[in-house]
Amino acid sequence: MQTTNSTAPRPTRPVRSGILTLLAILLGIVLAAALVGLVLLSVTGWLRSPDETASAQTSSVSVGSDVTSDEPPQTGPLTEADGLIPAGTDITAGADLPAVTRLDPALRAAVEAATAEATLDDQPLYVTTGWRSARYQGQLYDEALATYGSEEDARQFVATPETSTHVTGRAVDIGPLDAMYWLLEHGPDYGLCQTYANEIWHFELATTPGGTCPEMLPDASHLGG
Ligand SMILES: [Zn+2]
Repeated sequence: MQTTNSTAPRPTRPVRSGILTLLAILLGIVLAAALVGLVLLSVTGWLRSPDETASAQTSSVSVGSDVTSDEPPQTGPLTEADGLIPAGTDITAGADLPAVTRLDPALRAAVEAATAEATLDDQPLYVTTGWRSARYQGQLYDEALATYGSEEDARQFVATPETSTHVTGRAVDIGPLDAMYWLLEHGPDYGLCQTYANEIWHFELATTPGGTCPEMLPDASHLGG
């Protein structure tokens, strides 16, 4: 029974050493590939940092925001995360609410500076609306559409989420009425201008500090840019 095995030449040794050599070669190739991979990884890692890493983190951030995790939910009732200002609350540009923290930083700084001067003039100046989420603006527009019946009429009073400067953080509505008149007079010192003739409360950064404000547009449906 064992005759075949015992009489036949045993080719195991040369075969085994051949396999071992092959394995050694394969192992060498795998190790070399891993080494090349590591080198490539560290080189690309170098190339990416720090600028690319930083821009990758900030690319989805909207104007005036330095946090991405605070994006408002797309369903449910509107909250402060949408830029809602709780009813009966008088907030200033310095408040810690998304309505003002998500404003364009230059606009927010200008309104804060103007508020400080207004306070010295014994004139309270509050932000009644600042930044708004697109969903918030969309609801306001839908309400205007229901009230005025046509898109043409609704757009004279409420901009769409696509055109609203509140959604981009580049507009504030202020109050009370006396503060609107105060800012109409003193706003240009800070670059702040009333931009729509039919919205005495609506201000944007529209000139250089101390400059002259551009001519007002009749209403929000006439977007100059
Ligand atoms: Zn406004």
